[in-house]
Amino acid sequence: MATVTRQIKDLRTPIICVMGHVDHGKTSMLDKIRGTTVTDIEAGEITQHIGATEVPLYTIESLCKGVLPGNIEVPGLLFIDTPGHHAFTTLRSRGGALSDLAVLVIDIIDGFQPQTDEALKILKQYKTPFIIAANKIDRIPGWRVNPSFSFTKTFESQPDNVKNALDNRIYDLAGKLSAYGFSADRYDRIRDFTRTIGIVPISARTGEGIPDLLMVLVGLAQKFLEKNLKLHVTGPGVGTVLEVKEDKGLGYSIDTIIYDGEIRTGDTIVIGGKEKPIVTKVRALLKPMPNRELRIVEKFDHVDRVTASAGVKILASDLDKAMAGSHLRVAREGMLNALIKEIESEIERAKIVTDETGIIVKADTIGSLEAIVSELRSLKIPIAQAEVGDISKKDIIEAETINDPLHRVVLGFNVKLLPDAKEHMLESDVRIFNRNVIYRLIDDYADWEETQKKLAEKKKMMEIVRPGRIKYLVNCTFRQSKPAVIGVQVQGGCIKPGNVLIKPDGSKVGVIKEIQERNENISFAKKGKEVAISLDGPVAGRQIHEGEVYYVDIPESHCKVLEFQLKDVLSQDELETLIEFLSIKRKDDHFWGK
Ligand code: GDP
Repeated sequence: MATVTRQIKDLRTPIICVMGHVDHGKTSMLDKIRGTTVTDIEAGEITQHIGATEVPLYTIESLCKGVLPGNIEVPGLLFIDTPGHHAFTTLRSRGGALSDLAVLVIDIIDGFQPQTDEALKILKQYKTPFIIAANKIDRIPGWRVNPSFSFTKTFESQPDNVKNALDNRIYDLAGKLSAYGFSADRYDRIRDFTRTIGIVPISARTGEGIPDLLMVLVGLAQKFLEKNLKLHVTGPGVGTVLEVKEDKGLGYSIDTIIYDGEIRTGDTIVIGGKEKPIVTKVRALLKPMPNRELRIVEKFDHVDRVTASAGVKILASDLDKAMAGSHLRVAREGMLNALIKEIESEIERAKIVTDETGIIVKADTIGSLEAIVSELRSLKIPIAQAEVGDISKKDIIEAETINDPLHRVVLGFNVKLLPDAKEHMLESDVRIFNRNVIYRLIDDYADWEETQKKLAEKKKMMEIVRPGRIKYLVNCTFRQSKPAVIGVQVQGGCIKPGNVLIKPDGSKVGVIKEIQERNENISFAKKGKEVAISLDGPVAGRQIHEGEVYYVDIPESHCKVLEFQLKDVLSQDELETLIEFLSIKRKDDHFWGK
């Protein structure tokens, strides 16, 4: 094949990071390029991990049907599919740092969305060159589909109004990009891709524009990144661990991206472990078939040597404690000690600072753990422990020691609930949330926390004496004493049997025994009601007189709760009554109830 003869330089495969708002079509675009359907198997249809797809140059050539320039020497493109939800900022930053180029996918109909902005900020921060894939052009009203056509060809065949509609949307995108200081234009109108960001209109559904996208990427990589790509494809390999897996028959293995140098079977490698660096020997290197994603592929090629950049599965002993998200380094002669030190300090840096008390978080990779932790931090949820690994009995026991019932919680992301944990869970009041979509995990926990808080508030409210003000109505003395029965109007808040009443001068009136409305006993009476109450204590006409106003006497400790914790749930008239009551109590003692 022509490609083979073209590859005369030892250039490594450029790493391309795919970013964009959820649902804008990242997965569909990669599917189209590699011809598989990952979308179907994604949990919650959101890409959770960095997956990697190697697209060899011959695939690109066949997709580009001869439009590829003749000077291409990069061996292909390695796509990293980073997740799209905002919770994944950390993972994305890793992708951003790792990648040579990025494709920012934007739904041309939906336009800029929060994660589009976020991705742009990251790209700017890492100074990663990128292009825009303006996706879903087939949704432009009146679009005539020409499956798999290059953009220029399919564009030619569109009616004028459709052409204009597309261009208007491209102008819109360019306008938004200029707010970030980027100048951008439709790719086929650009001369200098170092100054202007190329917008490639595509449809991940019909394949239109995909050849153009690959052509621009390969061209950009070849032209502007040659210096970066001339890495040491023969030097000792450096990579990132994407995932630690236990495969049937294979034991533990790690899925990695080698982004520099080479790795061979028999090489000694150093990897970040959960407690300390792991030093082990490569038993086998398995490469997914080209165009297949590392994560979902069943069939592999055994190879002796892999050069950057590539996704490769590594088999070796002691990988069970390897930590996803950590670095991997090949140790050649005399390098081992220095590399161990380097990985040690990396493990130290990756340790998440936790709070004295809070919830427990378990996740499958450093990246997802960091993403969850940063999300929880932004919600101001304290974290007592954050670790990579399955949920064990130890975690639940640990959570049981937490004082606040709202934090007696274990959040698990993409991990297993170990059998002993399952058993222990049944007799424990610890709440476990185990999900495989980060935002769902956090939303579910936040919802639960909210409900629990409301329930606790309700319980507190039931127990707390609430403010109330009544007026002893004129001509409404029904019985003078033992108990006195009088007619009252509730002017603020509410009254209940058992409430102690006081006068505005602070003196005690008595205790409400019963409340009656139309000769029926009722359990409370709210503002506006006119009811009869029986009072233990006073004699009507002596201690109490028609026309007087009384307040419910609230214990000092209850006042504190009302004023400082439940103020938001009090109605306006309850709040006003509370303020009046407090001013009675604070007339002589300014700090009463504070
Ligand atoms: P991701 O979250 O960015 O990976 O987005 P997906 O690839 O999962 O796509 C989200 C939805 O948009 C899916 O229902 C896709 O079928 C649909 N979609 C993606 N690309 C296109 C496109 O070019 N045209 C149309 N009409 N729909 C698309």
